[in-house]
Amino acid sequence: MRKPMAGTGWKMNHTAAETADYAERLKAILAPGIADSLDIFVLPPFTALHAAQRHFAGSSVAYGGQNMHWDLYGAWTGEISAPMLVEAGCRYVELAHSERLAHFGETYELVRRKLDAALAEGLTPILCLGETGEDKRQGRTVTVLAEQLATALTGQPAERVPEVVLAYEPRWAIGAAAAASPGHVAACHTALRTLLTERYGEDVADRTRIIHGGSVTPENGEELIRLPDVDGLFVGRAAWSPEGFARIVDIVH
Ligand code: PGA
Repeated sequence: MRKPMAGTGWKMNHTAAETADYAERLKAILAPGIADSLDIFVLPPFTALHAAQRHFAGSSVAYGGQNMHWDLYGAWTGEISAPMLVEAGCRYVELAHSERLAHFGETYELVRRKLDAALAEGLTPILCLGETGEDKRQGRTVTVLAEQLATALTGQPAERVPEVVLAYEPRWAIGAAAAASPGHVAACHTALRTLLTERYGEDVADRTRIIHGGSVTPENGEELIRLPDVDGLFVGRAAWSPEGFARIVDIVH
């Protein structure tokens, strides 16, 4: 009952011209109507969103921002708001990526405000959750995931929760040499589903998608997507070329 997803976050890669080229090449590979069976998305840098709008319009590929501010407008130099993303045709916005937490001082308290604004403006938040290597060594993984989830979703009524896409990305597995083991991935996705059930009930937990990221490739993705609570793959490096992303899409499809 959960529609699977294949997505890629480009980080600080691809100019507008490169985005146009990526889009044209990707569209040429994807089978028509593929979006009936899975949701496909790319997250370009802000300056390439209008190129994404032009080149993905009417295609199977949706797109979104990699971050946004919680306020709708105002004196926030260097920031981008939800209405600006909506105007650029975005369907999604990624929140709480590990690099935002590690390098830009973001906290889940700020993420909560961003998530609230995103939902209010009609964007689908992709909410990243994940433990650090240190959390994992201390056996705190599920505790950390529970805290992140509880903080980010504070104040959201249960019926809004399935509008959020959860992205479990162990922070130590992002940009790494290998993905987390299938055993770890399965345990954490199932733990997240259980947390959703405890907090919001079975129906909400059944309808909320939990996608997986962190050094996912076409090689390891085959096994990861077959795990019971993994509803999609969320990929960085392996999908920065349209051919690489098409392989991920094919695996999820
Ligand atoms: P990676 O990036 O696939 O290159 O590890 C994943 C991410 O940052 O979401």
